[in-house]
Amino acid sequence: MPVIRHLPDHLINQIAAGEVIERPAAAIKELVENSIDAEATIIEIDLRDGGKTFISVRDNGHGMSRDDLIKCLDRHATSKLPLDNLEQINNLGFRGEALPSIASVSRLKISSRERFLDSAWEIQVEDGGKLEPRPSQQQAGTTVEIRDLFYLTPARLKFLKTPQAEYSAAKDMIQRLALAYPEIAFRLTQNGVNIFSYSVLSNDRETQLENRISQILGAGFFNSSFQINSNRNGVTLKGLASLPTHSAGTPQSQYFFVNGRTVKDKFLYGALRAAYKDVLARDRHPVAVLFLTLPKTEVDVNVHPAKAEIRFSDNTLVRGLIVTSILHALKSLEPKTSVELSTQIVARFDRGNIPAVANSPNSFLQDATSYGQLAERVVNAYQPSMGFSPSTRVEDFLEDTQQQNYPLGSARAQFHENYIIAQTEDGVIIVDQHAAHERLVYERFKSQFNSQKITKQGLLTPEIINLPDTDIHLLLDNKAQLDELGLVIENFGAQAICVRSIPAILSGKIDIQQLIHDIIDDLKNHDHASFLEGKINALLSTMACHGSVRSGRRLTVEEMNALLRQMEETPLSSQCNHGRPTFVSLSLKDIEKLFSRR
Ligand code: ADP
Ligand code: MG
Repeated sequence: MPVIRHLPDHLINQIAAGEVIERPAAAIKELVENSIDAEATIIEIDLRDGGKTFISVRDNGHGMSRDDLIKCLDRHATSKLPLDNLEQINNLGFRGEALPSIASVSRLKISSRERFLDSAWEIQVEDGGKLEPRPSQQQAGTTVEIRDLFYLTPARLKFLKTPQAEYSAAKDMIQRLALAYPEIAFRLTQNGVNIFSYSVLSNDRETQLENRISQILGAGFFNSSFQINSNRNGVTLKGLASLPTHSAGTPQSQYFFVNGRTVKDKFLYGALRAAYKDVLARDRHPVAVLFLTLPKTEVDVNVHPAKAEIRFSDNTLVRGLIVTSILHALKSLEPKTSVELSTQIVARFDRGNIPAVANSPNSFLQDATSYGQLAERVVNAYQPSMGFSPSTRVEDFLEDTQQQNYPLGSARAQFHENYIIAQTEDGVIIVDQHAAHERLVYERFKSQFNSQKITKQGLLTPEIINLPDTDIHLLLDNKAQLDELGLVIENFGAQAICVRSIPAILSGKIDIQQLIHDIIDDLKNHDHASFLEGKINALLSTMACHGSVRSGRRLTVEEMNALLRQMEETPLSSQCNHGRPTFVSLSLKDIEKLFSRR
């Protein structure tokens, strides 16, 4: 019979190493967190090959004595849990696992000088064995150097990615820590090259955080984001979240901090996604820096080996706080879209890129064979090419300068039958009339639906639509929900259905056949009952699309202005359901730049 025996310490440490420091970025996190716990104000990190061959973390913290240098390598030896109470964790570390784990799989050297003492010591670990401490030249604080991470566990080594990929993960981790501690200066070099140096220029915590966010996410994020500051039952949420039109292709730029700890918790990402679900396409992600603060007893940080995930005692409260404060902020925003869009427009206008005008007098007059032809060409060339609506007189535009005081300004022109130019107080905006109107109809549908008041409009002559029997079954299976949406359908023989009424908002405007076909597509895409909410939103947005002004329609000035005023009144109208902007703005400053006036 096999006998049970206790594993030797070095094996226990290697097993822990696999969980606690699965890759260089995780080892760096442990070391930097140790520096933060040691009250450092400057932390410098040097990497080689993304940390695979070399990691050094140097701090100016309180340091360690000769004795502590020996003890810190013992398993579960820590200075951070003085009251033996896991409910009251006051530091980032508390398990005493990181250094012994790292020591068991790499070549480790720690040099340290205790604060206010003249002598410094260093200790080295080779092949898992501690060497005697020796005097060292270490200045203030502590330096930890890791060489050849995982060289003692080749199986684990194989799982590491390329140096470039490990470097990206390491840099991301350091940036997360730097955001959580804007009062600490951070420096990073990789293979001898300076990557960043985040200084601290202010004594004020708010300013420090603003500076750090600009250092890491760029100043553009500030102008394309809004502030969150809310509090419910002792839980506070603070930070910045991006306008839906300032989204990213991955959730990489979502930074969550819980009681000062950087976490990558699926639950929190999910709450953020839920907050944006109605203003962003599935494959777009908001950018956000969010700090949650709650009583220590309400959160368990001791559930994940690398402490990346956490548990809240009241999930509903935390999720509710995140979703509602972001939604509330989004809804109360003035109409606004990402400033990066304006920057992109200005870049597009770079005069070097404008092709030579084909119709310049030189080219288009030369081959005119008669004066008549010439005159005709001149007239054609100088006719306004914008699609003014026939009912639009220039005076209409001039009369309503008062409209300019509204946030979205007063309509000046429509072009290519889909874009409206409006003049605002300090510039112009270009509105995509189809996208804007679709959003308005969608929001109207949603609020009617939520108050269960979608009004039905009976059809004088019911519409009969021939369909394959599978589609008929699908529609009839969802009859109750379609009914709630104002769409009443009935079976009409084996091969057809009959539409008796449609939502009143759509009446007179739509191709019912096409709507039913689009609805069948929606139902096919959301065929599980659990997606009820998603299904209803998809149906509402399909109906909104059918009910909105198609591009290609000429609008009168009144219609254009009415659209702008409705946009201002409707929450979330700055973007369509997929996060595409409904308008872009150009400030006079931008325009002056284009003409080299600035
Ligand atoms: P933990 O952080 O959970 O206590 P570690 O293995 O990371 O466990 O560190 C063990 C101990 O070593 C810490 O409790 C701390 O006393 C000491 N230590 C580690 N790094 C530093 C440092 N940079 N400065 C001062 N003390 C440190
Ligand atoms: Mg630690």
